[in-house]
Amino acid sequence: KLENATLKAELGHASWKLFHTMMAKFPDKPTEDDSAALRAYIHLFARLYPCGDCARHFQKLLEKFPPQVATRSTAAAWACHVHNEVNKKLKKTLFDCSNIGDFYDCGCAEDPVEGKG
Ligand code: FAD
Repeated sequence: KLENATLKAELGHASWKLFHTMMAKFPDKPTEDDSAALRAYIHLFARLYPCGDCARHFQKLLEKFPPQVATRSTAAAWACHVHNEVNKKLKKTLFDCSNIGDFYDCGCAEDPVEGKG
């Protein structure tokens, strides 16, 4: 089957949006279980990502740059860094990770019970 670069790029764009928005919503002070869940999610995302070449390359990146899941800000900075590693490979413009703060907004209401908005 021929590669369809448009669909591959669309999948990537949508996936990065979800990926970074998850980091932006990760707790500032996660429990050990929260951190373990995020680490597992990242490894499974890398393993199951539908573009096989992308998945293989991303799994190699995870070996080199293990997921940082201690806090929201370390997770967001880590995700920005690994996305930039993919950007480098694809010769794309690098993103300024100091601007990651309010860039990813889920558009969802705050959760008044858990206060994790
Ligand atoms: P994208 O890279 O999709 O980025 C979307 C938006 O995110 C950008 O417009 C920008 O606003 C923002 N952004 C850019 N960089 C960052 C950053 N560092 N941190 C936070 N936000 C940022 N494609 C391939 O051809 N080969 C591959 O091997 C490959 N591997 C991939 C691996 C993964 C895990 C994923 C999710 C995607 C992969 N892709 C790969 C797809 C590729 O990364 C792009 O998603 C695709 O080329 C579309 O690019 P884009 O220009 O829309 O920007």
